[in-house]
Amino acid sequence: MTHEMQHAVTEVTARGLPPSLWRPKLEAAPAPRLLPIAGGRPITVIAPHPDDESLGTGGLLHRLSAAGCTPTVVIVTDGGAGYPGIGPTQAHELIRTRRRETWGAIRELCHQGAQPIFFDIPDGTVTEHEDELTEQISAVLPPDGLVLAPWPDDPHPDHQAVGRASRLATAHADHELWQYPIWMRHSIQPDDPRVDDAELTVVCLSTAERQAKRRAVEAHVSQIRSPFPGFGPVLPDHVLELFADGLEPFFIPRTP
Ligand SMILES: [Zn+2]
Repeated sequence: MTHEMQHAVTEVTARGLPPSLWRPKLEAAPAPRLLPIAGGRPITVIAPHPDDESLGTGGLLHRLSAAGCTPTVVIVTDGGAGYPGIGPTQAHELIRTRRRETWGAIRELCHQGAQPIFFDIPDGTVTEHEDELTEQISAVLPPDGLVLAPWPDDPHPDHQAVGRASRLATAHADHELWQYPIWMRHSIQPDDPRVDDAELTVVCLSTAERQAKRRAVEAHVSQIRSPFPGFGPVLPDHVLELFADGLEPFFIPRTP
């Protein structure tokens, strides 16, 4: 793991900003226009790690699935660096566990038999694989679809790299790109210049959608309860709280 990555992991698991800080801005943001979904366009989620699909887009995925869509969920990395410092055998075990947990999470969100696609790039190294990742994403995107991808300004380097690759992969076809933040509410202030208010939209989840999202997040058991003695969980309660209020933000870039 690179020093930059180690720093990012330490930073994102620190206590972070209070969960209420972003609420006024998110509650005032408009809802995204959902017309393309009613038109039956294909939906693809690009998730840097196993769990980002649930944390970032879980409620929306449940809504789309209930409307008859079968989203494709791409998991970019193998998730093996969730607990920096564990040995290679434990990391291998963690990768297998997280793959199984991803299937469980997607079952909670999508009732139409959606299947994840695993690219298996080593966790924490996406910046080293950005060009090939852009090609891999281009290859799996159906034409004229809605793509849910990470916000490229997210504080996590893997999220930034997947966000950039997704943006490039969607630039030359008739795709619609919605970018979801994960660690923004944890460590970026609402008035930060990286936050473009004109691009910010928020999906307000129903009770059923919130519950489905919670079940999907909880399917990632290895992130909520550390499987390794001496290590705290990657997603402690104060982090989970950031994703539990039924507000799912998406930045929708204006077409250049
Ligand atoms: Zn992630």
